[in-house]
Amino acid sequence: MILEVKNVNKVYPNGCHALNNVSFNVDKGEFLVIIGLSGSGKSTMLRCMNRLHDVTSGEINFEGKDITKLKGASMREARSNIGMIFQHFNLIPRRTVMTNVLSGTLSKTGVIKSIFGIYSEEDKKKAQDYIKIVGLEGKENVRADNLSGGQQQRVAIARALMQNPKVLLADEPVASLDPATSHSVMQYLKKVNEELGVTVICNLHFLSLVREYASRVVALKGGKLIYEGQPLDINEEW
Ligand code: ADP
Ligand code: ADP
Repeated sequence: MILEVKNVNKVYPNGCHALNNVSFNVDKGEFLVIIGLSGSGKSTMLRCMNRLHDVTSGEINFEGKDITKLKGASMREARSNIGMIFQHFNLIPRRTVMTNVLSGTLSKTGVIKSIFGIYSEEDKKKAQDYIKIVGLEGKENVRADNLSGGQQQRVAIARALMQNPKVLLADEPVASLDPATSHSVMQYLKKVNEELGVTVICNLHFLSLVREYASRVVALKGGKLIYEGQPLDINEEW
C-alpha cells in the first residue's frame, strides 16, 4: 500500500462538505480511477492528497506517514513524491517545451526552481528523457502555445515527472480533449504507470475510458465513497 485515505472530511470555509468520511487504499503500481458526477468531490480528494488543500479531519498516509499535518520542509519532501497534472495543463504558454518541462525540477530542498533557474546538464538530460517518453522528441524548442491540447497535456506529464514522483495525480486530464486525443494522453499515462512504475490516481468521467484504463475504481457521490472495486462493475448512474 502506498497511500491510505482514512476517514477524510473536507469542509470548505463556505460550509460545503465536499468529502464525507472517505476511506480507501491505493496500492503501489495501481492505476486507480476516481469517478463521480461533477461536484462529487473528486478534485477536492486529489487536492488534499498533495496538500493544495488541507483536510478538515482524517488522515492521508503516504508510505505509512500521515502527510496531512506536515509543515515546511517535511511537507515539501512528502509533496515531492506526489506529482499532479490538471484539466487545463497549466503550462507557461510563451515558453518552450524544454523550459516548461525543466520548470518541474525541484531543488534539493524540494522547492520548485524558478523558470529562470539555472539547470544542470543532468536536469536537461532528464527533461530530454521524459520528453521522449511522452512522444515529443524533436519538439523541445516549440512554444507551448503552438502545441495541440493533447501535446500540451503530454508536456505537463513530463514536467510532473521531473520531481521523480512515486504517485502521479491527474485531475480530469482529458476533459478538454477530443476522444482520439484523450486516448493518446491516457496511453501515455498508462506507459508512465507501467514502464516507470509510477502509481497513477486519475479523476475521469467518461466511463468508456475508465473501463479501458483503470486497474481499480473508487466512486464518490455527494462527497461519500459509494463504491470501490473493479471497473467492469461500475454503474452508468454514478
Ligand atoms: P468534482 O471534482 O467531483 O467536480 P469538487 O471537488 O470540485 O468536485 O467539488 C466538490 C464540492 O465542493 C462541490 O460542491 C464544489 O462546489 C465544492 N467546492 C470545490 N472547491 C471549493 C472551494 N474552493 N470552496 C468552496 N467549495 C468548493
Ligand atoms: P473544475 O472542473 O476544474 O473542477 P470548477 O468549476 O468545479 O472546475 O472549479 C473551479 C475552481 O473553483 C476550483 O479551484 C474549485 O476549487 C473552485 N470552486 C468550485 N466550487 C466552488 C465554490 N462553491 N466556492 C468557491 N470555489 C469553488
